[in-house]
Amino acid sequence: MAVATPETAVEALQRVFGYETFRGDQAAIIQNVIDGGDTVVLMPTGGGKSLCYQIPSLVRRGTGIVISPLIALMQDQVDALTAVGVRAAFLNSTQDAAERARVENAYLGGQLDLLYVAPERLSNEATKRFLARGEIALFAIDEAHCVSQWGHDFRPDYLALSELAERWPDAPRIALTATATEATHAEITERLGMQQAKHFVASFDRPNIRYRIENKGEVRKQLLSLIKGEHPTDSGIVYALSRNTVEKTAQFLADNGLKALPYHAGLDSRLRAATQSRFLREDGIIIVATIAFGMGIDKPDVRFVAHVDLPKSVEGYYQETGRAGRDGLPSTAWLAYGLQDVVQQRRMIDESPGDLAHRRRLSAHLDAMLALCETVHCRRVNLLGYFGQESTPCGNCDTCLEPPESWDGTVAAQKLLSTVVRLQRERNQRFGAGQLIDILRGKVTDRVTQLNHQSLSTWGIGQDLSDQQWRGVVRQLLAQGLLAVNDDGYGTLVITEASGEVLAGRHPVSMRREAERAARSVRSSG
Ligand code: ADP
Ligand code: ZN
Repeated sequence: MAVATPETAVEALQRVFGYETFRGDQAAIIQNVIDGGDTVVLMPTGGGKSLCYQIPSLVRRGTGIVISPLIALMQDQVDALTAVGVRAAFLNSTQDAAERARVENAYLGGQLDLLYVAPERLSNEATKRFLARGEIALFAIDEAHCVSQWGHDFRPDYLALSELAERWPDAPRIALTATATEATHAEITERLGMQQAKHFVASFDRPNIRYRIENKGEVRKQLLSLIKGEHPTDSGIVYALSRNTVEKTAQFLADNGLKALPYHAGLDSRLRAATQSRFLREDGIIIVATIAFGMGIDKPDVRFVAHVDLPKSVEGYYQETGRAGRDGLPSTAWLAYGLQDVVQQRRMIDESPGDLAHRRRLSAHLDAMLALCETVHCRRVNLLGYFGQESTPCGNCDTCLEPPESWDGTVAAQKLLSTVVRLQRERNQRFGAGQLIDILRGKVTDRVTQLNHQSLSTWGIGQDLSDQQWRGVVRQLLAQGLLAVNDDGYGTLVITEASGEVLAGRHPVSMRREAERAARSVRSSG
């Protein structure tokens, strides 16, 4: 009997996965791993990271150990591989003893191509001793950004993965992530000891996704008008921050004749699984979810991703919007945000447990997100720039298609800031946006009368702008760091160091005019 020559990577691609050719850097990445080299892969969601470790695991001797935090998805991943004849299994806390023993025996007997393991298991010495008794083809560290304390998804168990290289110097390691700031990249390299690795950084551009960010008015109506107007029969995902908003939004869409289903961690796990599988199998399902939904879900024809609350970071926004249009066809990423989002998130940061450095990090994440929202330039240039990638205006985002007008908001900013200053200095009072705007517009409310705010020198000096325009002014001042939310838990507003420059007339303030746009989309839904 002739000795079979080992299968090549391309042969495995065609035979097992039924694809003709590799995409992008896949071939070079896979070759490097097969040759035993360490590899770091930064590739956007949908770029095809899985094959980068699956194929080397098939070609190299032994079992590919895949470290993944997405325990809920391991079963699906293993099922999909088993269906195409790959010998795959997983070890995680959801298994009973008998099942675990079966998987362990298969591994020790050399009968597995791929073994998925949760990171917390690998920080356990018993697991490492067990793995040492079998033959390891490679280690794949999926969602490698979880090792980054600067990132938005830090998992302490990932820190222990640095030991793999010492213990198994001959097993190549491949670290993969769809998060790609330079800081995260540097941290992955350092913490996982990947200095000698080859690095592959794919373009993060998703040209088929049209980015749109608008002002939050009656957000459910805005959302409904987007879906009915542009995606009436499409599959989509709507993200909200709280379970309550998820429930209400799903109900509202369902009441308006759409197939919308809620999804959040408070729902029964069987119901969640059923919702997820309907989304994958049926056409035109809209999932309204907290961020708990979507990680690792491979549905190529999600036509829109909508955010009804401001995401906490650009990384999160990019990952979530990245679930749209994996098939390369035109798709929409839509976000509505308003003043309340900024106030609420500042408050959440102030109240968050953890040290000052941690709160500063959260704050920096929020600032970057706000800068994306308030930019008068191309959204994509801003987004890719955040990931260290230079580009030119895309022609496929709201600011490219309908360039926002900017206006000189210096005087408006001065009116508002001096109201804040006067209340603070003359009365030792602090207020949220609502009361400040009432004062500027000279509205005689009970509260105004009670507090005698008519006697302030800024009373009624802001009648040239509407309530909504004033809210836009407040929001943009917050985004530009010219106003801050006080950390008293009430969302009152205070001036910052930079505010002084505006009041002194040394810092002109340019603002984005966008109220019209939001108003229009609300009207067209009526
Ligand atoms: P990621 O993990 O980077 O988000 P996946 O590995 O899930 O991406 O791949 C996204 C989709 O692209 C999957 O449906 C996958 O089967 C498909 N895919 C990956 N590589 C290729 C290829 N070379 N040719 C065709 N389809 C591919
Ligand atoms: Zn653009």
